[in-house]
Amino acid sequence: MKLAMIGFGQAGGKIVDKFVEYDRGTGSDVVRSAIAVNTAKADLAGLDHVPERNRVLIGQARVKGHGVGADNELGADIAEEDMDEIQGAIDQVPVHEIDAFLVVAGMGGGTGSGGAPVLASHLKRIYTEPVYGLGVLPAEDEGGIYTLNAARSFKTFVDEVDNLLVFDNDAWRETGESVRGGYDRINDEIVRRFGMLFSAGEVRAGQNVAESVVDSSEIINTLSCGGVSTIGYATEQVETASGGLLGRFSDEQLDATETTNRITSLVRKAALGRLTLPCEVRSTDRSLVVVGGPQDYLNRKGIERGRKWLENETASMEVRGGDYPMQGTDHVAAVTLLSGVTDVPRIKDLQGVAVETQDNLEDIREESEENLESLVRDDGDELEALF
Ligand code: GDP
Repeated sequence: MKLAMIGFGQAGGKIVDKFVEYDRGTGSDVVRSAIAVNTAKADLAGLDHVPERNRVLIGQARVKGHGVGADNELGADIAEEDMDEIQGAIDQVPVHEIDAFLVVAGMGGGTGSGGAPVLASHLKRIYTEPVYGLGVLPAEDEGGIYTLNAARSFKTFVDEVDNLLVFDNDAWRETGESVRGGYDRINDEIVRRFGMLFSAGEVRAGQNVAESVVDSSEIINTLSCGGVSTIGYATEQVETASGGLLGRFSDEQLDATETTNRITSLVRKAALGRLTLPCEVRSTDRSLVVVGGPQDYLNRKGIERGRKWLENETASMEVRGGDYPMQGTDHVAAVTLLSGVTDVPRIKDLQGVAVETQDNLEDIREESEENLESLVRDDGDELEALF
């Protein structure tokens, strides 16, 4: 699947940067264009792989390259006002060569949280290609403002995209990790999952062709139910000939039953393990299974059994699947895309904290206005202002 990726804000830019790195490393050629948009000059300068000409600084007149703090209303306003500048970069995208747009942003901050939904809405108005969002939820300990921002951004973003793929930082944080180190690791996890999903079906010259190919239209169909999606992933190392990588076994040497069992067990682990957004798997509307690895370790039967299992588990008839032969790896991996999930306790919790924060903020604002008034005014209200 070929994508134009637009990273909005710091998290969005860093994740797109990582996607470009992954794409080059694997040669999968999924990222047809990569653009980063930000109100903070320093964040754009910190990117390594997004080309300089595709880094768009917006809001210079209002925030002078310093970012919007965590003010996502300002982020949304600036995106609206400076859409022409963003469009200038998007004009360079060879739209006839892409299957979809992917707008990536952290939903807890300001620039991406406010700007990504505005951009998605704009793209949908102009182009016929699907527009997907990849939205990152903040960790719970980031505090009330981030949670409120994320809850409001989530509500808006879901409505503006064809499907919102969600990654929850809270489900992936580890204690004792520095913030920066944590994000590096988390971003690797994000890109590994989404990268493998989007790479499936992109057959390069000289590569093995899958037995049952996952075409980009199958990913699009899976996502076309709309709403919110989450991804599961599981991997297992396999033995290769003479200890080296990618030894080719003959069919007799590899036990077909073992291969089938490994695949079905990986599909189960992917769907029941840690998802990018934890949810009740049974509330899935449509799903897709991709199993990748050395070709000798893939078989149609395993994928079929994995698909059937997921059909049962999600109680849905729309489960697509296929394999993805990969060279240069000694791992077999399964990715499960669960699309249109509706039972997501984490979102309900987030909304609860967000509403509470919103109420508190209003109280605090009112109180501090009153306090200021009583400070500035003398007790008998005898003093007059100059003008
Ligand atoms: P913006 O630049 O104003 O859009 O805000 P940021 O992108 O800096 O931050 C928004 C939220 O994204 C934060 O609250 C974090 O939850 C998250 N975040 C920031 N940087 C990263 C990152 O590199 N990776 C991930 N996964 N999340 C991040």
